[in-house]
Amino acid sequence: MMARWGMVIDLRKCLGCESCSIACGIANKVPKNSWRQVIDCGVRQAPDRQRILLSLGCQQCREAPCLQVCPTGATVRRSDGIVDIDEERCVGCGYCIVACPYRARTLLRRGYGFEFKGTPESPEKEPSLHDYSGVCSKCTFCREHVEAGLERGLKPGIDPEATPVCVNSCCAAALHFGDLDDPDSDVSGLIRDNETVRLREDLKTEPAVAFIVPEGWTGLPEKENKE
Ligand code: SF4
Ligand code: SF4
Repeated sequence: MMARWGMVIDLRKCLGCESCSIACGIANKVPKNSWRQVIDCGVRQAPDRQRILLSLGCQQCREAPCLQVCPTGATVRRSDGIVDIDEERCVGCGYCIVACPYRARTLLRRGYGFEFKGTPESPEKEPSLHDYSGVCSKCTFCREHVEAGLERGLKPGIDPEATPVCVNSCCAAALHFGDLDDPDSDVSGLIRDNETVRLREDLKTEPAVAFIVPEGWTGLPEKENKE
């Protein structure tokens, strides 16, 4: 049976060190904060005072607004739940960037890092105007890395060689990855055993990322509480 990949992020544990966004930028050869960023939401007052830090990337929405507005069909949802971008079909219009409620997408110059063929000194082909028009990009749960691990018989979410780099890099073990449809997976167990929320449930995007919240959770702190 096909897995449905998802993440669980423990808001009680995140230290705000930004290892996840730094590791993401290095591994995927994209600028830091473009695929994953850590947002300081401010201080939650009750019942116990706590700073809330949000490690935020693509939520791999089941009902993805980015996919609904894409005029070329470049954005697709795979059978494993990962929302992917066909870079050849993306025209860089940016509709999806506006439609995404989670600020998960970035327009990168076509040919930047992760998809550059050859080197800047000796490109494999002469760049055309289209090559520089820009292409939308975002987190794909390190899909190539996960797939390479699966081919070796490794278990995503357990074996680092089959797990997204942000999860591997988190020194606080705040990030977890795995199959949401497998009741025995780490992520399913965490959702079962803890109070979790998904971001902007009201928009009915059905994110594949759940956040474990501190006891007595009443929502994200007001911005003016930030210290
Ligand atoms: Fe699309 Fe944004 Fe949802 Fe990711 S988080 S699937 S980019 S709408
Ligand atoms: Fe938080 Fe872990 Fe990211 Fe550090 S690496 S900011 S602790 S989620």
